[in-house]
Formats: sequence, structure tokens, C-alpha cells
Amino acid sequence: MIVILRPDATEEQLKHLVEKAEKLGLKAHISRGVERTIIGFIGPEDVLRVTPLEVFPGVERVMPVLSPFKLVSREFKKDDSVIDLGHGVKIGGKKVIVMAGPCSIEGHDSLVSVAKKVKQMGATVLRGGAFKPRTSPYDFQGLGEEGLKYLSEAAQKVGIATITEIMDPRDVALVAKYADILQVGARNMQNFTLLKEVGMTKKPVMLKRGISATIKEWLMSAEYILSEGNFSVMLCERGIRTFETYTRNTLDINAVAVVKQLSHLPIVVDPSHGTGKWGLVSAASRAAVAAGCDGLMVEVHENPEEALSDGAQSLLPDNFNNLMQDLKKIAAAVSREI
Ligand code: PEP
Ligand code: MN
Repeated sequence: MIVILRPDATEEQLKHLVEKAEKLGLKAHISRGVERTIIGFIGPEDVLRVTPLEVFPGVERVMPVLSPFKLVSREFKKDDSVIDLGHGVKIGGKKVIVMAGPCSIEGHDSLVSVAKKVKQMGATVLRGGAFKPRTSPYDFQGLGEEGLKYLSEAAQKVGIATITEIMDPRDVALVAKYADILQVGARNMQNFTLLKEVGMTKKPVMLKRGISATIKEWLMSAEYILSEGNFSVMLCERGIRTFETYTRNTLDINAVAVVKQLSHLPIVVDPSHGTGKWGLVSAASRAAVAAGCDGLMVEVHENPEEALSDGAQSLLPDNFNNLMQDLKKIAAAVSREI
């Protein structure tokens, strides 16, 4: 249920309405726009048959939210959300944000070296996994806290924001201590305990689409995070499983446009996991920017042959640099910057 306040509604009227609704068991999420304040009420809506919110002073209109996702919907918030990622980086505005770095954090020096290069080439967020969700328990699992330390050291040396995956709800405080953005990976998109836990932090969260998740399921997962009070959420399309086996996944470009219609949250595209082949990453990235994504996440490694994970889909720094040059032209063509 969305309540739109009159432009002249006072703070007292807002407070009174919220207090009354909370007594009825509803949770209020307030969104202050330039012209109007909108309140999203989540909870047992049948109580409103007895106490209709229309009668409260300051209320202009009460609208039921028809979509199953409420706080993430465009009905709740008309304007695109702009999220502050730290280090002066904001996503959701005119500038398309590029996150780049290795799949896994493999060591201090290699991370600092690639961080310097990608930053110089235009990336503003450094990616790197310390907790890796590997299909096989015998594959490299990540460096854990040691890797997180390298990530924050590299960020300090280079001056760049950081993103890293969190897999376990018990690690939220640990990962939040070292990284600017918490990444919830595809395999954990419906780990509801983890979603609630990251929702209770104030850290920006990037929620990747599950391997076989529908857009609705993905948005419902984002709803879990917002419903805990954390509105700094961006979505990430990283390809879905289809009958096609030539590529690792099938990058769903439709999802960019669909998310833009349904939600105010920024949408990032990961062309590396979306294709699984470095030679396809550039084309997929260009398509994503043309389709209107707010950010890209690209795996870059200085020596893909020796990479401990995902070498086959990692770009060499020179190729990443070429990609950045190409993306500038695409971004300009769709009235964006990169
Ligand atoms: C990753 O970004 O390193 C990763 C494991 O991605 P995904 O969760 O999309 O597979
Ligand atoms: Mn990877």
C-alpha cells in the first residue's frame, strides 16, 4: 500500500500517520521526493478496512501496490535510485559505473597491480572474491579474511571502491569491515537468511540474479533486503541457464529493460559470467550499455592462463582498455557517460 501525501503535509501529520499505522502492525518506509513524500506501508493490509488511511490529515491518495514486489517497484518510487558506493562513486545516474578486477583475489601484489591498471583505464570499483562459491569442493575456495585484507589495502593504495562476495550470514560484519559493497552471488540469490542479514546493514548490496531465477523471483529477493531497511541495492544480470551450451550462460539483455520498467533500482550487467568466454565479453558489454545498464562488472586478469578461477572469461588489461574506449562511444550514443 502506497500513501501519497499532499504537497503541504506537515511533519506532524506524517509522524501521526506513521505512528497510527505502526500500531496497526504496518511497517512504514518513507521516500521523500522533490515534490512529494510517499510512504510505503508493508504488513497486514486487511487492518485498513477498519482504519482507512485516507482519513488522516495530510493524505492525498492511497494506492494498493499490485505487483508482489513493493519497495523495489516503480510504483513505490518513480525516479531512478542513485546509490552512493563510497569514494565519490555513485550508481544510477548518467555515468555508467565499471567494476573490474580478478575473479578471485590471489595475492597482495597481483591485486594491487591489476587495481592500478583498471583504475587508470576508467574503472571506479575493484572486484575480487575472497569467499568463492565453487561448484567443486576441490577447487580454489578463496583466501578468506587474508584476501579481504589485500582488497582493502589495494583500495587504499589505488583509491578505488571495492566489491566482494559474501556467502555466509555469519560473515556480514567481517566482509563489511573490509569492503565498500557486499555482493550476493547467483547461488545465494534465495538465501533468505543472508538477504535479511545484509538488509540490516547500511552497506550497498549488489544482488546477482540466480542461475535459473525469473525476474520476479530476483526482484522478490531484492525486496527482502529493502524490507529490512537497506535501500542501497543494485541488481546484477549475469546470465541464466538455458539449453544453449556454447556459452557458459545466456546473458539476458531483456532483463535490463524489464528491470528498468519495473524497478527504480540500478542494474549492473556481468558480461564475464554471462558469456564465459573472454572473446565475447566486449560484444556483450557493448550490448548492455546500449540497452541502458547503469554499471558493468568485468573480470580482468594480468595472466589469465595462471588464474585460479575463471581465466577463460577474464580480459587482459589491454583488452579491457580497448573495451573502455569502445564503451565511451556507445555510452555517448545513448546519452550516458562512462
Ligand atoms: C563472481 O562474480 O565471481 C561470481 C561467482 O559470480 P556469480 O555469482 O554470478 O556466479
Ligand atoms: Mn568469476
